[in-house]
Amino acid sequence: MTRAISLHDVSKSYTRGTRVVDRLTLDIEPGEFLVLLGPSGCGKSTVLRMIAGLEEIDEGELLLDGEWANDLLPADRRIAMVFQNFALYPSMTSRDNIGFPLRIEAPGEDPGTRVDATARMLGIEDLLDRFPAQLSGGERQRVAMGRAIARHPSAFLMDEPLSNLDAKLRNHLRAEISGLTRKLGVTTVYVTHDQAEAMSLGDRVAVLRGGVLQQVGTPRSVYSLPRNVFVAAFIGTPRINLLRGVVRAPLDGAMTISLGKQYLRLPEPLCLDHQLLRVQQGREVIVGLRSEAVRIAKPASARPGEVHITGLVEHVEFQGHEVLVHFNTGSRPAVVPDLEAPRPAPPVRRRRRDSGSVLERLRNRAGALRAGPVVALEHPADDAHDPAPPEGRLPGDLIVRTTPDFDLRHGMHVPLLVDLAHLFVFDQHGDRICPAPARLPDLEE
Ligand code: ADP
Repeated sequence: MTRAISLHDVSKSYTRGTRVVDRLTLDIEPGEFLVLLGPSGCGKSTVLRMIAGLEEIDEGELLLDGEWANDLLPADRRIAMVFQNFALYPSMTSRDNIGFPLRIEAPGEDPGTRVDATARMLGIEDLLDRFPAQLSGGERQRVAMGRAIARHPSAFLMDEPLSNLDAKLRNHLRAEISGLTRKLGVTTVYVTHDQAEAMSLGDRVAVLRGGVLQQVGTPRSVYSLPRNVFVAAFIGTPRINLLRGVVRAPLDGAMTISLGKQYLRLPEPLCLDHQLLRVQQGREVIVGLRSEAVRIAKPASARPGEVHITGLVEHVEFQGHEVLVHFNTGSRPAVVPDLEAPRPAPPVRRRRRDSGSVLERLRNRAGALRAGPVVALEHPADDAHDPAPPEGRLPGDLIVRTTPDFDLRHGMHVPLLVDLAHLFVFDQHGDRICPAPARLPDLEE
């Protein structure tokens, strides 16, 4: 049996006035593999612990298969947890560790058959008589998985189960977990701060920042249509290039986005998304360019939709199969705070006109709450601004991925082509405005 897990407007505070989880609404389908992704401290484990019943829910409701479950005892939820630190009993063999929860659930029954079947499934039969101290990290995590699986739970909750393992083993076990949970068809909620792990495992990924859900969607959709600049910056390697720009939309000339010393000229006729940028005339925006949006090539080889800029090579990172080139294009990079460890969101006061409205309920259903702006561009962009990088940052404002064939050295001026079909534009608060978010008519703020 597998189960649906729903959280509706769920909040949690450990200290008064600071919500570490803020009005979270999330519907997880039976059999789905959902990843909760976000920087350390953003409330992921707290969400997991509330689903497990290990943490009280302050506000909102938890539904298991549509039934109200806020007060259900953990043991009655038929949910198994797997932790980062394995949480095995050191004085028990693997066999006893796996069988222990079964003995608690059915004291009179011999768990032997189920333990053996589980061990076979995980390929750990030869580890059953060893103690945790006699196992490697990967083996311990397999035993911990075995303990969760043997109970035949209706859902798995996994809290960074691989982060104590080395990179190679992590990749291997990641594939094992993916295969196993799909084979068992059991709903899984998996917590990680590692976006690559989230993208490779999840049917859907829910991105949290400061306790607030930013976006939930398939890995493909959160990558290709990030709702805001935080999601755009958190997901993807290398990190998306974010440059501060100003929209210039003269009535009698071509529309451009000025990037300090250079500009992107939007090709005519303007596509709908670029037409919509016209209302931003004179305003500062954040331009997002993933590395696939820029290539090193001469202006003459531009394809339709590509525009030309120039970059000064500041730094070259050789990575074997590819090279990351850091260019200075004379623009100012936009800094997204809280990417590493956000502060919990301060309590959000509901705006009276939205309270309980259709708009708010629709937003909640879409899983798109907000706790204040993701960024706030404090100084107006100045075209003549000195683009010297802030201290501690690598020089360059634009990272381009290329093949190792190019012999690029520090100080070279290089022609670049920017594919405007891959252009992201975010407003001053970090919300995506291009491609335009799909909006229902009459629901504009
Ligand atoms: P994550 O799993 O995303 O790293 P957590 O859910 O563990 O984040 O924690 C979210 C926030 O709540 C953090 O600021 C953390 O310090 C705080 N927190 C977690 N557990 C407790 C607790 N038992 N008492 C007080 N604060 C807590």
